[in-house]
Amino acid sequence: MALLEMRNISREFGGGVFSSTPPLVAVDDVTLSLLEEHPSITAIAGESGSGKTTLARLLLGILAPTSGTVLYKGKDLTEMGRGERREFRREVQPVFQDPFEAYNPFYSVDHVLNSPIANFRLARSKDERREMVEEALRLVGLVPSETLGRFPHQLSGGQRQRVMVARALLLKPRIILADEPVSMVDASLRATILDSIRQLNRELGISVAYITHDLTTAYQISENILVMYLGAVVEAGSVERVIKEPKHPYTQLLVESIPQADPDRRWGDEPPQASYEEGGGTFAGCRFADRCPAAMDMCWQQAPPQFKLEEHRVVRCFLYRESPVTEDPDLSNVFEYSDAAAPVTSA
Ligand code: SF4
Repeated sequence: MALLEMRNISREFGGGVFSSTPPLVAVDDVTLSLLEEHPSITAIAGESGSGKTTLARLLLGILAPTSGTVLYKGKDLTEMGRGERREFRREVQPVFQDPFEAYNPFYSVDHVLNSPIANFRLARSKDERREMVEEALRLVGLVPSETLGRFPHQLSGGQRQRVMVARALLLKPRIILADEPVSMVDASLRATILDSIRQLNRELGISVAYITHDLTTAYQISENILVMYLGAVVEAGSVERVIKEPKHPYTQLLVESIPQADPDRRWGDEPPQASYEEGGGTFAGCRFADRCPAAMDMCWQQAPPQFKLEEHRVVRCFLYRESPVTEDPDLSNVFEYSDAAAPVTSA
């Protein structure tokens, strides 16, 4: 059963009857489920302008889709009652990119961690609250006595980000949406934070959508991946298959540009990407045609459908037109799941 589900989601910005420019299609017809029985880590990868952050905001219900539906436990987010909405807000937790932004510099770590407990009335006493906070800190590898009572400027970037993960954990989420959680953190701390996230998935059965521009970390912690380009998913499936043997010309370009020598350089730093402005906001054919070394006449005339190349991979590219077009657009159908993570049985 799907916990969180997007059905044929599209999101446009701008356009409309009074606009002289066409709408910008930030997310184009994505169908994806995060399954209750397989709590896994799914990377949503793409560069700036790919639509990955818009996708995350749609999943969180912060943004309404232009068309399509987002459902949590089978219920349309727009039709939820107050109680259901509250449950959704507790069980689907975001962890954002910049812990500096999320922190009010005048609030101590204690305040940051105590407020969700108070808001959702999760503890019956001060002692219970303290225990919950300390347990959450330990789960992300922080020592409570060295963390509590401090202010943001007294913590490192890595510690701040882990406090944000601990904050999400206090609410016992079913899903964490981690949007570039390590992009502002030193390389040395990246591994620690990614390890914390992987542990949450394996040991607590929390599903993670890992939104990133960094294919290296996506490969390190995810089981499955969606690669997005200008709002469309161009390749999806098992991370092992997609990164080791990329099939879409865009994924190939990205994988080739993963730096080998300098671990601090990431593929997001590569040459300028095509933009909606360049594309005029609408695409008759393949969105990648103007950059694709393999583009054919047909690529300019029609958008490629999703071809299923193998059990755990779909690719949106006419180079694979001999393969069958996917009947079911749900990308989770081609994902590969390990049994490492135990599903949580109760909310
Ligand atoms: Fe290139 Fe055509 Fe494939 Fe698009 S559909 S990626 S232009 S070969």
